[in-house]
Amino acid sequence: MAPHSSPAIRRRGVCFVLSAPSGAGKSTIANALRASEPDLRHSVSVTTRQPRPGEHEGVHYYFRTMEDFQSMSKSGDLLEGAIVFGRGYGTPRAPVEAALKSGLDMIFDIDWQGHRQLRAALPTDVVSLFVLPPSLQELEHRLHKRASDNQDEIDRRMKAARDEISHWQEFDHVIINADLDRAIADARAILTAARLQTRRQTGLPSVVASFGAP
Ligand code: 5GP
Repeated sequence: MAPHSSPAIRRRGVCFVLSAPSGAGKSTIANALRASEPDLRHSVSVTTRQPRPGEHEGVHYYFRTMEDFQSMSKSGDLLEGAIVFGRGYGTPRAPVEAALKSGLDMIFDIDWQGHRQLRAALPTDVVSLFVLPPSLQELEHRLHKRASDNQDEIDRRMKAARDEISHWQEFDHVIINADLDRAIADARAILTAARLQTRRQTGLPSVVASFGAP
């Protein structure tokens, strides 16, 4: 160990919730963070919607029938669940609990309903960030550019975007994603601060005790 580096201290993982209307850039921000943060895992949700081109089972989502989704929800296998655009979405409980215990952080790409439920289930673990687009016009432009959805789907997403945005004040932090590099840097700063919260430092009491301080 270098003379001035600090020892790795055991801590509980962070539940880092990233919410935004579709097209605000939250997946890009989440991917950039995951690429540079080895201790950060993506919480893979269950959904009843069909896979989009390029989406893979167990990587982007677990694709399930509505019947399976409801039975997982009933048996407590989901930490939170919501109906978004008429389809079921939910967070499997077991991987989150295991990650937090072993000091790994998890990033969640979930909507405001999921954020509320997750916060109620894990009140001291959740740190949340809401990502706003620069404007609704810019959001619609981005959805068109993405071209994976048809006009009906885009109209539906724009309506849902207004609803999602109306909940921004429920989140701990908020950014406007006008400059992607800046947004990624801001999200990383929030994650770093969350990792350093006093309440997460499960290994520190014994380290501090070894200082001999009263
Ligand atoms: P998409 O179909 O575009 O992948 O996602 C649609 C919406 O569902 C997004 O706002 C996304 O954040 C939300 N979502 C994805 N997974 C979950 C989940 O596990 N729980 C909740 N509550 N929302 C989710």
